[in-house]
Amino acid sequence: MTAPIVESVSRRRALTCLCSGAGLAAAAPLIGGGALRALLAGGAAAGVALPAAAAVVKSSLSPDKALNLLIEGNRLFLEGRLPPVVNNAERRLQIAESQAPFAVLVSCSDSRVPPEALFGRGLGDLFIIRVAGNTLSQEGLGSIEYAVAELGVPLVVVLGHERCGAVSAALSVVKNFTTFPGAIGDMVAPILPAAIATQKDSGDWLDNAVRRNVVNVVEKLKISGKLIEDPIEAGRLKIVGARYDLDDGSVDFFHR
Ligand SMILES: [Zn+2]
Repeated sequence: MTAPIVESVSRRRALTCLCSGAGLAAAAPLIGGGALRALLAGGAAAGVALPAAAAVVKSSLSPDKALNLLIEGNRLFLEGRLPPVVNNAERRLQIAESQAPFAVLVSCSDSRVPPEALFGRGLGDLFIIRVAGNTLSQEGLGSIEYAVAELGVPLVVVLGHERCGAVSAALSVVKNFTTFPGAIGDMVAPILPAAIATQKDSGDWLDNAVRRNVVNVVEKLKISGKLIEDPIEAGRLKIVGARYDLDDGSVDFFHR
């Protein structure tokens, strides 16, 4: 007679931490994918009317349409014609019970590269993993898998940028055997393969390494496991690499 109680406690515990995504793996076998998705989809499934193209019901946007939203947003940003982002109380309340972001961004922590600003998006639009050097940790991968598998996000963009300090630090490790205090070396370490691979390339080493680092993360993601590989194969997910130009404000989606 104790088994149902144990299961019930486990189930409650798993559901309690779902908001952070941490209980996803534990909860899935307990409540099933469909029920889990229904729980997480919440308001979107209930037909909440969300304004603007980004505010879509889960899975209704194709990868290419999601990408076009970002391309168009950046174009308006470049031209200084971005409409005001709707982050008012109405919008906040519309997404208070659920979210339906249309893109995951893996981007750098650099203060000059906030994804919402570069693409003219607001509350509920983008699911963002930010770390200096836009690299991919296991926790970051789990976050992306959650966004894809449970929120139905159709697009992942790995976004590097011009003159990235984290990539520059990786170059100094390769060139001068520089060491860093604290955990900074751990932040730089995943970028070293890109720095080494581009060391002898023609052109600007830093910019070549920025692009290579983006490509490395994209390709690593593409073979990260079933939660990412299956939707790619089914045409429900695209992963692309991009570089943001600090000088002119453009985002070049150079790796598709
Ligand atoms: Zn950076």
